[in-house]
Amino acid sequence: MLPVRCLFWLNHSTAANVSGPGGKRRQAPCPLLCLTLLLSSEMNGAVAMEATRRRTQPSTNGKTSEQSEQAAQWGRAWEVDWFSLIGVVGLLCFAPFIVFYFVMACDQYECSVSQPLFELYQGETTLLSIWARAPSFTWTAAKIYAIWVAFQVFLYMCVPDFTHKFIPGYVGGVQDGARTPAGLINKYEINGLQCWLITHALWFANAHYFHWFSPTIIFDNWIPLMWCANILGYAVSTFAFIKAYFFPTNSEDCKFTGNIFYNYMMGIEFNPRIGKWFDFKLFFNGRPGIVAWTLINLSYMAKQQELYGQVTNSMILVNVLQAIYVLDFFWNEAWYLKTIDICHDHFGWYLGWGDCVWLPYLYTLQGLYLVYHPVQLSNAHALAVLLLGLVGYYIFRSTNHQKDLFRRTEGACSIWGRKPTYIECSYRSTDGSIHRSKLLTSGFWGVARHFNYTGDLMGSLAYCAACGFGHILPYFYIVYMTILLVHRCVRDEHRCSSKYGKDWKRYTDTVPCRLIPGVF
Ligand code: NDP
Repeated sequence: MLPVRCLFWLNHSTAANVSGPGGKRRQAPCPLLCLTLLLSSEMNGAVAMEATRRRTQPSTNGKTSEQSEQAAQWGRAWEVDWFSLIGVVGLLCFAPFIVFYFVMACDQYECSVSQPLFELYQGETTLLSIWARAPSFTWTAAKIYAIWVAFQVFLYMCVPDFTHKFIPGYVGGVQDGARTPAGLINKYEINGLQCWLITHALWFANAHYFHWFSPTIIFDNWIPLMWCANILGYAVSTFAFIKAYFFPTNSEDCKFTGNIFYNYMMGIEFNPRIGKWFDFKLFFNGRPGIVAWTLINLSYMAKQQELYGQVTNSMILVNVLQAIYVLDFFWNEAWYLKTIDICHDHFGWYLGWGDCVWLPYLYTLQGLYLVYHPVQLSNAHALAVLLLGLVGYYIFRSTNHQKDLFRRTEGACSIWGRKPTYIECSYRSTDGSIHRSKLLTSGFWGVARHFNYTGDLMGSLAYCAACGFGHILPYFYIVYMTILLVHRCVRDEHRCSSKYGKDWKRYTDTVPCRLIPGVF
């Protein structure tokens, strides 16, 4: 089956001229599209074949297609078919409504996901009346949000990390990122843990001493704040899009598909920056959304206390388990520079809007649900959730740590008390240079190829299970994370296979399962 090509495409040579001679295989555009894109594997094959045919022509720098075929595969696609395009446009249009739907279901329907649909079906309500009942934009929320973002920018840009000087084992301060497709290695100021600590110290100081604002401030302005977050999400994505055309930070690392919607959504610039240090990906991925995550949960906890005079054990569990996850993120921020978000994804709406809106609004649904439905779990249930969350976290952290240690020491380390086993591999960057790398095959990386995702999914299930079994709304998170990580796994493996070629095949022969040994 041949893919239908998009009418908006620039011709092939223009894209190659702008962006270098790297490979051109189609990759899926977004986690949310995974269900549809997984079904399209046949189509992917056809696209890949077509892309291979296109590579039989000599490229602009004189390299043959075979050489280009060997080149490292990074980030998102160079070309878009109609199928992906429809998905991208659909997401741009509907993702904001998905967020609105869940938040509105809590605000107007006590967290019932089916009730609004049922009432719409019965004609008892209309979309317009639901929309009209939703709290609108307020200047109070705009002020809160502006102060919040400005404060995070200030902490990120103006307070160089000092925590690494006195916290043993913590890696902060100026750190190197991974090599970009054009062969650059960017420097980053790693001060996320410090930002998180200062922000939370101020939050507690306010709650206990200063009383400048109520700790329920976030919950009390939740929907008006959502409009502000949307404004920032769209503004930053649009700015990044325009910037890529007119003043890119590094034009060698830009990717243009020629399709405006795809470029807008999946990003053009790889590492857009303002000045030397304001890195869009690190800032928007890490703050303000992830710093806010724990504050949002604290605000929900305060609301429960205010409404019911007590905080339930389920709310405490959600706060504690998610705080561990968030703290882990900041403790390991230097490691995060080597993850797919920073190493491979370009900065577009998917990251810009996703970090501003999707993450803070949908990753915190459990706490929101528990404000409307306080759940006091039995001791056995609470213990089971705690165990699931901690075991999941242990697997997630240990797996990530093993790879990080292995890569940092270039294999000169011990994993599970033994010398690590690995597969030597090589790849070519877009400037034509050959690089060497190693794929770990022992420890958790010998159990499954993405066991870190398995641990993450166990932790995600624990957050949901903490909410009991009364409603499906809090379970949205595990459904979403499963889609996200399975899709990510497929997309990453596609990229690794292109990057490492037969070496990747040797690796998958050695470690045959992706997430669950013997199953998948
Ligand atoms: P990984 O940390 O698994 O990184 C994948 C990369 O690691 C591959 O592209 C490859 O890169 C390298 N690699 C793959 N196999 C091996 C191996 N055997 N040995 C050494 N290196 C290998 O993936 P992510 O960046 O997606 O995820 C990092 C963590 O973040 C995960 O734990 C995930 O669960 C979590 N996460 C959480 C999300 C959330 O929303 N909560 C979203 C996304 C991720 P290379 O090209 O360098 O070889």
